[in-house]
Amino acid sequence: MADHDVDLFVIGAGSGGVRAARIASSYGAKVMAAEEFRVGGTCVIRGCVPKKLLVYAARFAHDFEDAKGFGWSAEPTFSWQTLIANKDREITRLEAAYSSTLERFKVQVVKTRAVIEDAHTVRLATGARVHAETILIATGGWPHMGPNIPGIEHAISSNEALDLRELPKRILIQGGGYIALEFACIFAGLGSKVTVVYRGENILRGFDDDIREHLRSEMQARGITVTCGQTVDAIEQAGDEYRTTLSDGSTVAVDKVMFAIGRRPNIMGLGCENVGLSCHEHGGIEVDEYSRTSVPNIYAVGDVTNRVNLTPVAIREGHAFADTLYGGKPTKVDHANVPTAVFTEPELGVIGLTEAQAREQYPIVDVYKTSFRSMKMVLAGRATRCFMKLLVDGTTDKVVGCHIAGPEAGEMIQLVGVAFRMGATKADFDATMAVHPTIAEELVTMREKAFSYGRDARK
Ligand code: NDP
Repeated sequence: MADHDVDLFVIGAGSGGVRAARIASSYGAKVMAAEEFRVGGTCVIRGCVPKKLLVYAARFAHDFEDAKGFGWSAEPTFSWQTLIANKDREITRLEAAYSSTLERFKVQVVKTRAVIEDAHTVRLATGARVHAETILIATGGWPHMGPNIPGIEHAISSNEALDLRELPKRILIQGGGYIALEFACIFAGLGSKVTVVYRGENILRGFDDDIREHLRSEMQARGITVTCGQTVDAIEQAGDEYRTTLSDGSTVAVDKVMFAIGRRPNIMGLGCENVGLSCHEHGGIEVDEYSRTSVPNIYAVGDVTNRVNLTPVAIREGHAFADTLYGGKPTKVDHANVPTAVFTEPELGVIGLTEAQAREQYPIVDVYKTSFRSMKMVLAGRATRCFMKLLVDGTTDKVVGCHIAGPEAGEMIQLVGVAFRMGATKADFDATMAVHPTIAEELVTMREKAFSYGRDARK
């Protein structure tokens, strides 16, 4: 429309925003995107990518130890500074790649904060105003630091954990979700003494109970202290260390305290109130299945909507938004059966229902599970075990849940995701030829039911 400067103004150049901007532009829309920090967003700059690089680094510790059983001997040393410098170089390279993609697709990027003034006007930090036919909010999330306990200013979040100048000798991490546990395993792998403090009964609430128990015991076996049923109530600096007081009154002295107690949609100061955008209880912007907010020409994708807070989901939502608005292809994103991985040690790969959820949804549920020591671990002399579990709707034979703990579980669950989309049955899994010798072959060779709910009157 002639009275608009741009067709689309995207606020936030992270996973969802970049994808939406580039696809909208490829359909011929005039697009401007604002980013106040670095192009790439949480995933590239201070989330998935740097985290995974640190995960790789941490896993070498076990590899060096395990190599001895295969005849190797070496005395490795580790430099945190080298790791962080190399990680930073890679992030800068990726940021440049994202920026040049946007440039190639003729998206104008403004490196500034943007605030929504009215339904069609965005004000930049420079004071300039841009009139847009459509606005897309893709501002992501931000670490939530919880209640204002004494000494909270001493706690770091995952943002700072990725850039510490030194590897802490002792670290306490509060939280029992993805970030807390991934960082616990990273720091433990690199040699820190790690204490996880979690408020509930067991870590990873919402995951299958067997997987939660398996991960907890494996983490503990690796020397991580997992303290459940406690919160950090105070942090006090005492010289070079921090003394944390837990809810039972006990104290733990460490060199760093990290909180990973969830992330909140990043809407502070965005101007939502100027246009009356409806938000959920935790601040997520309410959207319909096409990512349209309560204001008809304003859309939102990714973590700011607090639907399924994962990078690939944000990318899909951004793409679907652009297809719908500019490509003439109305597209909804299917948020069911999203495969996910937790990059702990061992790694987890999960899709579909937990055992408890399956029992609620289906009258008959067949449970298959296996726990075994992989052949590599036998020679390595490491006691760690792999765990796999399939949940099957006993009426249709459809596999409705798959839970894996073990090496490359994330890689495995990606492909199990394809089988899920195709509606694979247990008979399909059974008919699939095994790849031998692999860990994944156990997924197609689980013949014996661990038990059945609904078939047997005793269960
Ligand atoms: P999560 O929501 O996964 O976990 C938050 C944890 O903090 C929970 O254990 C929660 O306990 C606990 N908690 C919440 N509030 C408090 C409080 N006030 N005091 C003490 N504990 C509290 O959030 P994360 O920060 O770990 O991660 C954010 C999101 O980022 C994830 O949900 C995920 O979507 C995404 N992510 C994905 C990754 C991946 O795909 N591998 C990696 C990292 C992040 P309770 O369970 O009792 O509520």
